[in-house]
Amino acid sequence: MTEDLAAQVRALLDDDLSRGALKRLARDLDADPGLRDAVLAEATRRGNPLPEDASSWPGKRILRRARARDVEAMERLNPIARDEDFTCAHCGADVPAHGRTARDHCPHCLRSLHVDVVPGDRAAGCGGVLDPVRVEPAGGDGWRIHYRCRTCGTERRNRAILDGDPPDDWKQIVALTAAVG
Ligand SMILES: [Zn+2]
Ligand SMILES: [Zn+2]
Repeated sequence: MTEDLAAQVRALLDDDLSRGALKRLARDLDADPGLRDAVLAEATRRGNPLPEDASSWPGKRILRRARARDVEAMERLNPIARDEDFTCAHCGADVPAHGRTARDHCPHCLRSLHVDVVPGDRAAGCGGVLDPVRVEPAGGDGWRIHYRCRTCGTERRNRAILDGDPPDDWKQIVALTAAVG
């Protein structure tokens, strides 16, 4: 890819574009397979790969999907269940693996680490501490903890672990149900 094309692709994925500009770009994508391939490659590089048949999608759909940076789009992609012992980067607690599901946050302070693009892939270069910002019901009797990265501001969600040894700190979960953020 030439530098010019790379810059064009970055602008296309990053800039706050007007609807009119997006429409024009979608037409450019329809007309230019080279640009289409470059956009798909850049989306993959960013950890947001599109499905294999995306090169035959209309430009509008490619743009919408490639520009989506929401957590849902990330979580959809092949999570890898990793369940390992770790030392909490925030409170220093030694946290044992759960044994059945991935233990991805500290049960004592609820902090996690921004290390994954897709859960378990360890592809995020950030490594910042993920602070819990609020909690919401997650179907059944589960809870989902929403996180924001202290370093880069990325938002993440993890399921609370209530059946672990130890389980997540219930007082903090309850306090976070009332938080807005
Ligand atoms: Zn901790
Ligand atoms: Zn981060």
